[in-house]
Amino acid sequence: MDHMSEELEQLKGFTPYDLMEHLRQSGFSEWRCSMCGHETINIIGTAEQLFFFQMKASLTDTESDTRGFDVAMAVCDNCAHVHLYSCQDLVKKLKQKDSKASESSEKGE
Ligand SMILES: [Zn+2]
Repeated sequence: MDHMSEELEQLKGFTPYDLMEHLRQSGFSEWRCSMCGHETINIIGTAEQLFFFQMKASLTDTESDTRGFDVAMAVCDNCAHVHLYSCQDLVKKLKQKDSKASESSEKGE
């Protein structure tokens, strides 16, 4: 039952540094905790891998709902507020960027 989603497979080797790069390209300028404004936020992972954690639906409008989110986390060093990044949406965004990047490099040739 230890099945890894297709999206997770695509984020193997994706590091906290890569997440930072993605955030910068998405308009991020500096770390600010969304709750307290503190500037030190710890991304959970190692230099080799950004860690993802499963959040499963426990109550929805559907019986035996199997949906869930795989999320990366960044925790505020000051107030402990947890910032979550959706694996599925991260993969979607990265794919959009990839297709835009390959379009512009094709035009450049
Ligand atoms: Zn905070």
